[in-house]
Amino acid sequence: TEDSFKQIKALDDKVQAFLTLTEEDALARAEQLDNEPLENRGSLFGLPIGIKDNIITKGITTTCASKMLENFVPVYDAAVVEKVHEAGMISVGKLNMDEFAMGSTTERSAFQTTHNPWKLDRVPGGSSGGSAAAVAAGEVLFSLGTDTGGSVRQPAAFCGIVGMKPTYGRISRYGLVAFASSLDQIGPLTRTVEDNAMLLSAIAGVDHRDSSSSSKEIPNLIAGLTGDIKGLRIAVPKEYMGEGVAQDVKESVQAALTVLESLGATWDEVSLPHSHYASPTYYAIATAEASSNLARFDGIRYGYHPENAKNLNEIYLRARAEGFGTEVKKRILYGTYALSADHHEDLYVKAMKVRTLIAQDFASVFENYDIIVGPTSATTAYEIGGVVRDSLTLYTNDILTVPVNLAGIPAISIPCGFSDGLPIGLQMIGKHFDEATLYRVAHAFE
Ligand code: GLN
Repeated sequence: TEDSFKQIKALDDKVQAFLTLTEEDALARAEQLDNEPLENRGSLFGLPIGIKDNIITKGITTTCASKMLENFVPVYDAAVVEKVHEAGMISVGKLNMDEFAMGSTTERSAFQTTHNPWKLDRVPGGSSGGSAAAVAAGEVLFSLGTDTGGSVRQPAAFCGIVGMKPTYGRISRYGLVAFASSLDQIGPLTRTVEDNAMLLSAIAGVDHRDSSSSSKEIPNLIAGLTGDIKGLRIAVPKEYMGEGVAQDVKESVQAALTVLESLGATWDEVSLPHSHYASPTYYAIATAEASSNLARFDGIRYGYHPENAKNLNEIYLRARAEGFGTEVKKRILYGTYALSADHHEDLYVKAMKVRTLIAQDFASVFENYDIIVGPTSATTAYEIGGVVRDSLTLYTNDILTVPVNLAGIPAISIPCGFSDGLPIGLQMIGKHFDEATLYRVAHAFE
């Protein structure tokens, strides 16, 4: 824990991954844990961890990187926070993100811009950019992020680390500030595949406080890391290797396939024909759910409260106008429109139908294949404030990641190469509740 803070003090002025540090509490807990008898020591005993700032922490400010929650101090811990404590881990602080997890660069934080440790003029990806940058910079070996449409995998790829989006329902969302409830999933970010599997094992499992959490058994994820992937059948969707994907990324993924082949796997090209509808489908559903979830921020029960408002209506109006950033407001507007009486049939309901088709695309590929492989992101990390600023380009990049959330299946991003000093991420997508195969293959490749 001391080393972790040493590294944070040396680097975080530049990287800016953390929004809040809890050094005093962390050191006190570390000291207390030192006196624990061996039999009480959890599976991740004494290891420091950073937590994305949309996961609530008792007594520690939880902002969602929004002015709306700048001074919000929760009175209880999220289920995953309870679990990392049970495993003996030590929370060192809260990590920066795009406001309410809406974005792909972490530039949409209301408070600070996180920098990619590999090249400080690049973004770390997002929305879990702080979580990925902190691990890549060696400030912590473990962090928690959240993935609604790629927000664990894409920053893991941009920062050259391992990021897992588990199956929807694998981990309790109790105490995660909701963005889009049917897509949100908490996920671990780490340097190695084995660490990742250990952290997932510690935080997974059913929780009666989240009715969407699953009681499905969690296999021993570590025992499966044998290095043996002989006979593995890999599908490579042609839609994931198309024109929009940069040449350096394509070459790296192709080289990774050759490595997997040399380990005894085989691969074929397949098609996921509804991929191209994934982005609009995702944005209709995610914004609809966000508009409803974010209705609770009314300036009274939570967060930002405007000064000198003359009446209730003015409190609502000003709290939301002054508390939310532009992207959040934009999405609340889209979502409200998608759910409005005149449009919900042709937007929201239609999107739900396409969501089913996207899930069926995956299901039919998985009849003949064990995993799907492709890039995590179409390019390496963008420049901060650079040219890939327009929303449309950023939205298009989501095509590689959002179908997984729409289908509720697990996917991992692991490093597979470098281009011009920046890491490239390889994405592996698995069947429902089959994180074990993803870890096994990722570990063999690593
Ligand atoms: N980039 C996507 C978005 O802006 C994904 C966000 C996420 O997974 N939280 O919605």
